[in-house]
Amino acid sequence: MGDRLMRTNIVVAVVMVAGFLAVPDGSTLQMAWQVACGWFAAAMIVVGVRRRGVTPAAPWWLFALGVAGNASGILVEWVLTHTQTDPGFPSWADAAYLSLYPAAAGGLLLMIRRRTIQRDWSSIVDATTLTTGMGLLAWVFMIKPAAADPSIGLAGHIVSVAYPLGDVVLLAMTVRLLLSGSGHNMSFRLLSAALICFLAGDGTWALINQMVWEPGPGAHKVLADVFLSGYLLFGVAAAHPDARSLARAVAPRPIRISRPLLLALTAASLIGPGLLIVQALTHRVTDVLSIAVGCGALFLLVVTRMSQLLTQLDVQTEKARELAVTDELTGLPNRRAWNTELPRALERVRRGNRALTVAVIDVDHFKRFNDAYGHPAGDRLLKEAAAAWQEQVRTVDHLARYGGEEFVLLLPEATAEQAREIVDRMRLATPLGQTFSAGIAEWDGAETSDELTARADGALYEAKKAGRNRIAVSTPAELLTRKP
Ligand code: GH3
Ligand code: MG
Ligand code: MG
Repeated sequence: MGDRLMRTNIVVAVVMVAGFLAVPDGSTLQMAWQVACGWFAAAMIVVGVRRRGVTPAAPWWLFALGVAGNASGILVEWVLTHTQTDPGFPSWADAAYLSLYPAAAGGLLLMIRRRTIQRDWSSIVDATTLTTGMGLLAWVFMIKPAAADPSIGLAGHIVSVAYPLGDVVLLAMTVRLLLSGSGHNMSFRLLSAALICFLAGDGTWALINQMVWEPGPGAHKVLADVFLSGYLLFGVAAAHPDARSLARAVAPRPIRISRPLLLALTAASLIGPGLLIVQALTHRVTDVLSIAVGCGALFLLVVTRMSQLLTQLDVQTEKARELAVTDELTGLPNRRAWNTELPRALERVRRGNRALTVAVIDVDHFKRFNDAYGHPAGDRLLKEAAAAWQEQVRTVDHLARYGGEEFVLLLPEATAEQAREIVDRMRLATPLGQTFSAGIAEWDGAETSDELTARADGALYEAKKAGRNRIAVSTPAELLTRKP
């Protein structure tokens, strides 16, 4: 059922868009064709949403209302020009045309709200940057001239400003939608294409109005067809099966900037200076203040985005640094962390002339445990043992995983005897009935960290040789005299 609905809609839409080009210019059929396109698109939205059970339906009702309203403007304008000698400006047709803006913007707002679970500040800043750049263009070329036109009354001013203002708002919402996280399905693409048709159509109109050259009726017809495509794309977006998941929450976009987005942001940021250059070259510098305000806003937005990126860089660097010195399985500091920590600790103790002891711990018959219970069980033992041992050491002690089933413990301000007591507590706390052997070496005040570790390792070897499940203390040739 669903796919037939989709196929029928697409065929009708394509026929309507292509057929429009063959309809005679200025004919009643041409007017009726355009109105029919809008109304058919609105009907497509209503039927699509109801048949597919799209929720929430509210954004789509608003889209249908906007499309039907905008298309009805064509009919109203035709009726007015055929019944009155001068319908004047603004007329009821403008009210109908303009209804698209609040309706579409409202629908987009509801949709964006549903799609974004958490505030996505980077997307908001990007959308604001692009809109500010385009808004500056709209201000200089459309809004300011419309507001200043002496030939129209107050209502005329309001309405002629409303059109470009509506476009800027719609552009802001479209950009925000496009940047609202990943998960762009077909319905999303169709909806975006519909919005882009309207914005491109309006933009081209604005450009034509700026030019002295008046394009022929062929160009006008193609332009009108772009708007018809916009209507129908709205309809097809609603009729597509993907419409159901369009308003579902999506993962936020990564904070980093893609190349196309960077290009767009750069272009938007250069609109102000570009405008100023053009005005200077044509000796018609009329918008210095607007351009300065626009440039200032864009500059602040770029700086905001930069600070967001820097903050993220800091967070990521800290995370990477943390990962580099942490053992994944046990969460203990790893060998890399140990290799920087031990020399530092020796340096501190050297200055204070105090004791420092190192212990090397190796789980007994771990291979046998692995063979008996499996590698994952071995992993669990290591993890639980690390946690259990950590509870037995003092807060100043530094327990690290040296590799495999071998651990090292740094005991600042502990003599070999004090260290033995602590390591023995650890030995008894080893979970799952397992044991370990350990070698202990107190620093002699002169040896390097490698020599100290090697001495503790030698003691460990002695403990293993003596039957395991025990602690052996290495006795240095001579201990430095220390303060008591
Ligand atoms: P000993 O009492 O002499 O120390 O005997 P052992 O079996 O503990 O020592 P051996 O060096 O023969 O074996 C160590 C085993 O530890 C071999 C290796 O597969 C296992 N192993 C090393 N790293 C891991 C790990 O991350 N997880 C698990 N499950 N096993 C590991
Ligand atoms: Mg072992
Ligand atoms: Mg070992």
